[in-house]
Amino acid sequence: MEILQWRVLPLLSLLASFVLLYIQTSSKRSNSECSLFPHEQFWILSKRIVTPDGVISGAVEVRGGNIASVIEGDDLQGSVIGGHFLDYGDAVVMPGLVDVHAHLDEPGKTEWEGFSTGTRAAAAGGLTTLIDMPLNSVPSTVSVETLRLKVEASKEKLHVDVGFWGGLVPDNAFNESALDSLMEAGALGLKSFMCPSGINDFPMTNSTHIKEGLVALAKYNRPLLVHAELVPDSHSSTQLNDGISDVRSYATYLKTRPASWEEAAIRDLQSAMQETRVGGRAEGAHLHIVHLSDARASLELIKDAKSSGASLSVETCPHYLAFSSDDIKDGDTRFKCAPPIRDEDNRQNLWNALLEGHIDLVSSDHSPSAPELKLFGEGDFMRAWGGISSLQFVLPVTWSYGLKHGITLTQLSKWWSERPAKLAGQDQKGAIKTGNHADFVVWEPEMEFELDESHNIYHRHPNISAYIGTRLSGKVLSTFVRGNLVFSDGEHAPKACGVPILAK
Ligand SMILES: [Zn+2]
Repeated sequence: MEILQWRVLPLLSLLASFVLLYIQTSSKRSNSECSLFPHEQFWILSKRIVTPDGVISGAVEVRGGNIASVIEGDDLQGSVIGGHFLDYGDAVVMPGLVDVHAHLDEPGKTEWEGFSTGTRAAAAGGLTTLIDMPLNSVPSTVSVETLRLKVEASKEKLHVDVGFWGGLVPDNAFNESALDSLMEAGALGLKSFMCPSGINDFPMTNSTHIKEGLVALAKYNRPLLVHAELVPDSHSSTQLNDGISDVRSYATYLKTRPASWEEAAIRDLQSAMQETRVGGRAEGAHLHIVHLSDARASLELIKDAKSSGASLSVETCPHYLAFSSDDIKDGDTRFKCAPPIRDEDNRQNLWNALLEGHIDLVSSDHSPSAPELKLFGEGDFMRAWGGISSLQFVLPVTWSYGLKHGITLTQLSKWWSERPAKLAGQDQKGAIKTGNHADFVVWEPEMEFELDESHNIYHRHPNISAYIGTRLSGKVLSTFVRGNLVFSDGEHAPKACGVPILAK
């Protein structure tokens, strides 16, 4: 017996050390699968790095997923010698884009998009953070339980970081403890609709609900996002289809959702906005108008409210900046969205408002659906499901159409990274500065490409995107999320290592 032990023990310990070695190497391998350039510390070099202080030639040091230092100067290869580095030359290194308005539709509607395809498209498009909307998934995110379902459904599917807005609906608007628990569970803020959302478990709110929501949010310093279209009292749903002769004409659809709906909603929000002022009942809360399309009367009301001290911001979307109603072809329901795309003159006004700082930021409102709901055969604008699919293309689209207006990389970065990160309360995101997350997009603004079927598109349904068939400028080369190179040269990192973002 004693002899047997003598012989077996060394063997057992040898076996144990092999097992340990295997576990160590496999865990190292699985972490390294998060990145196509798996190094704890490395440098990124470029002649065009977009920082809060301007565009510099220099290097960014990444360590443990954060930005360890940013140094300015040419020919820095000597300074980083011996370390790992990626030299991108003339390509632009910019903070990763933060999209505060994405519908990822999971759980329950993965046939529309889903976390996996949506975040792969985001990574390929240079977006490093998405904030998911509380509707179009089943169920809608209107309670702690439904938020938990979202977070659970997102596990191991996220190629970029994803936060979540909760929903403000009549059911929870007067229930402070329900809203408190939704905030405490990590919702980054709330979203509500002033018109029917088209989703049964996401009913519309009025301005009284919205005021209650703002009061509940005040102590958390989190925003309430509002879809601002108000259907006039005189309007009935039967009226929608009265006297409509050509349902394939975009002009027909446009008439059913006039700019006066946006104006009426914003007018109705005025007293709620005033409550967010210093000393107001909802001081600490913030109101954000999503996807502004009307750059006339609605914009004037927003400007007035801002100058009166309301804590207010507003976004528009690439489709309002890129397209005008006159150019939308009969039956092309890829362009249906709410509020609708308006005329060319309005489009120019939107650009001016963005450049003058009256519109704060841009978001995608990526809102896909199953292709059959678009009714491409009939081309019926009145019955087709609305929503523009765009996530992967928002950077080249904003840049390409913005070039005619002389936009700069610094402006682009403010609209797509710095301000959205602030709205979502993400202090460590949205800017290339020491201490922030190493979230970057590397891209070639001058490189043009035809966005056609041959392009690698990662949305679940590439063919429903309104941008297919356009020529764009600005090719994304690489995307980094917290130091992980998650997308490079048409390839994704094998493992999805994005994280759910929950407010603390
Ligand atoms: Zn939306």
